[in-house]
Amino acid sequence: MFCPKCEDEYQDGFSVCGRCNEPLVEQPNACKDDTPAILCTSNDSEEAYMIELLMRNYDIPVFKKTRGGEISIFVPSKMLDYAKEFLAPVPDDLPDTDDEFEALKKEREEKMERSDQLFLILLLFVGAVGLFAIGALIFSFF
Ligand SMILES: [Zn+2]
Repeated sequence: MFCPKCEDEYQDGFSVCGRCNEPLVEQPNACKDDTPAILCTSNDSEEAYMIELLMRNYDIPVFKKTRGGEISIFVPSKMLDYAKEFLAPVPDDLPDTDDEFEALKKEREEKMERSDQLFLILLLFVGAVGLFAIGALIFSFF
């Protein structure tokens, strides 16, 4: 049984919501004109609460059923696909940390290589200038 106002679930035998004083109904209000579909289950009440908040944030009606420590989260079945989009991040959207690391490593190696080449060019240039200077010095003696 559910309260149509706060959507709290009650055990069979209750007929009025203790909080709102509303007569309880068979189906939660959120699913009055739709069949509820299970979105997910969780053993963690905090996680379930976060999912509930997330769904409410997107104007998706949510109700929970707790049975033996397991919390089932329901949404109207016509909103199930829509709700699932917000539930879990699409794996493809997640950055692959290994790939990112490899790319960073490669970039750094390329930079090192480039600076090595620059150093080599500088060394050759200095060497050439030095040789030219020595040559000019020797030549000026004669
Ligand atoms: Zn109530």
